[in-house]
Amino acid sequence: MSEKYRGLSPAEFFHRNKEIAGFSNPSRALYQTVRELVENSLDATETHGILPYIDVEVRLHEDRPEWVTLRVADNGIGIPAHEIPNVFGRVFYGSKYVVRQTRGVFGLGVKMAVLYAQMTTGKPIYVKSSTRDSDVVGEYLLYIDISRNIPHVQKMRIKKKNKNWHGTIVRLTLEGAWLQSKKRIEDYIRRTALISPYATIRYRSPDGELLFERVSKELPEPPQIGKYHPKGVDIEILKDLIRRSNNNDMTLAGFLEKYFEGVGEKIAQEFLTWAGFQPDTKVKELKLADLEKLATAMKNFPKWRRPRPLTLSPLGSELLKKGVKSILKPEFATAVIRPPSSYGGHAFIVEAAIAYGGEIPPQDNVLLLRFANKMPLLYDEGVDVSRKIVDSIDWSIYKIKFPAPVAVVTHVCSTKIPFKGVGKEAIADVPELEHELEIAIRDVARRLRIYLSKLEKMYEVKRKEVTIRKYMGEVSSSLAYVLNMDPNSISSLLEELLKKELEKKEVTVNA
Ligand code: ADP
Ligand code: MG
Repeated sequence: MSEKYRGLSPAEFFHRNKEIAGFSNPSRALYQTVRELVENSLDATETHGILPYIDVEVRLHEDRPEWVTLRVADNGIGIPAHEIPNVFGRVFYGSKYVVRQTRGVFGLGVKMAVLYAQMTTGKPIYVKSSTRDSDVVGEYLLYIDISRNIPHVQKMRIKKKNKNWHGTIVRLTLEGAWLQSKKRIEDYIRRTALISPYATIRYRSPDGELLFERVSKELPEPPQIGKYHPKGVDIEILKDLIRRSNNNDMTLAGFLEKYFEGVGEKIAQEFLTWAGFQPDTKVKELKLADLEKLATAMKNFPKWRRPRPLTLSPLGSELLKKGVKSILKPEFATAVIRPPSSYGGHAFIVEAAIAYGGEIPPQDNVLLLRFANKMPLLYDEGVDVSRKIVDSIDWSIYKIKFPAPVAVVTHVCSTKIPFKGVGKEAIADVPELEHELEIAIRDVARRLRIYLSKLEKMYEVKRKEVTIRKYMGEVSSSLAYVLNMDPNSISSLLEELLKKELEKKEVTVNA
């Protein structure tokens, strides 16, 4: 018999291979769904300069214990009513396919949640949304037509807006193993609050309510939409930009200046001479072989400026420290932000914090909290670059003796995080990134060592004080007897001496 041939739609592909997007079983799927919805809500708020208010609710069904309804509401920019069907019902559709730091990048996440919900409970997703400048609210019940990868709208309603509300409410019902996933979900919410200390997050579940109120009203500078860096191109990107330029007269020099990050007239000329191109060649006339040569030369030219970090939005050391203190409640915390760097034409910035003591429980290894573009990473820690670095460090040089109450926080911001999979749980060990991470971690570890040595000194002084005081009474009365003096005046003299001695050795310890 001959083979039958047909194509596979993107929705069908992810329906069959949901594991690769993190939807491998009912426990993981519930966690992943919370994550996708919360991350969309945070992107819709802080990326646009809005202080986030996110409300997450998990409800179980009395008659169907394996059914979980999840509702996430935000005060974000909202979605235009006519776009709602596609953004929730078409795999690979979204607003984040630009050079800018966001949590979402693939245009996939929420569709995975919709697919999983309709596969396991047969229920559509409910969406209600309104944008800031719109005077209507759109409400939809929809699911995905999997074989065609298009939304199927079951019900819709467009209402006039009577309040000045903007934001999005999403509700879906899926099969989820709540008992097995609740710890991870709570951990995820807690860590999200740590890395977004300017967000208020309310989390209601069958276990009760958790409220993480913002500890700062200061939003990091939102990321700007940037251009490609010349090092990050390939032939297809070049073709696409030339097609979109829609300009028959555009020269190679003009093209480079217009579409690429950090390319001015001078550097464009210098590059083109170096690469053996005429600056006034028209881009429309370039053949495939020319494009191949151009792309290779762009990758290898040694003098491009580094990508600027305007597309990125790190927390900064103060805000990161605030987040760490409010969630981990340590006795000591410090944070550092590294200068911008890049790999393969993608800008990135690394931040790290260390926390010690307080409510952190002592454990046999460093507690590692990993974040990428302000997303907590909870799975696959064993294969993550941060774990690799933390494990390679000899912590005794930083005065850490295990079991110790020590936590390391790493945060990588980039327009392209080198994730190991579309589930976005582990970061690959790209050399430039690994280098920056190691410097950052060692830097905060060094500060912890200074703090711990001060503590040690302080304890030593205290120990001496205790010993001296222990014998002070006896010494005073013996001296009083020998010198024929009042024992009280001798003890106040000794007290005076001890105070002076302690002041000399006084060490201040600042957390
Ligand atoms: P991604 O987040 O990777 O872009 P998603 O499938 O999760 O992909 O979301 C698709 C698009 O839907 C987003 O790019 C965004 O434009 C829009 N979107 C999803 N959730 C929200 C929300 N809560 N508020 C505003 N826009 C949203
Ligand atoms: Mg998303």
